[in-house]
Amino acid sequence: MFLIGNKLTEAALDDLIAEGNLIREAARRGDISAAIAGAGIQSRRAIPRDLEIVCQDGVSRLLTEMQRGMRVHCPFHDDRHPSAFILESTKGSLGVRCSFCMQTFWLEGTTRTPHDYFAFEKETVDLAASPLPTNSQLSMEVALTMTQ
Ligand SMILES: [Zn+2]
Repeated sequence: MFLIGNKLTEAALDDLIAEGNLIREAARRGDISAAIAGAGIQSRRAIPRDLEIVCQDGVSRLLTEMQRGMRVHCPFHDDRHPSAFILESTKGSLGVRCSFCMQTFWLEGTTRTPHDYFAFEKETVDLAASPLPTNSQLSMEVALTMTQ
């Protein structure tokens, strides 16, 4: 989403509405994980490689020319005071974290697997649904463990 003349473009507005509908749908299905992901904790919007971002010192730079911790003006909202900063993933990818948008934007081409906050709950449900081992299966497992 880019701001032009302090107004959202039609495409950006459509984007936001579509995003809102996805979140509402996910919440209705009870898919909390998808609803949270959709709520923009991790943004799906990427920072184009050729996008110049205005730094705190007023100089525009490419994200690839910046370092972790630098304060910048958010490229995704009309940011008069630098409310974003550069962060680096554990894999070394650069991103912009905006405290106003409450989102992290990664450089385009950055592949990320979203964290599943409900992995433990899903595993528990799967375990509960699977049949319990019989006593003979258990004693066989114990016997196998003891011979190793
Ligand atoms: Zn922002």
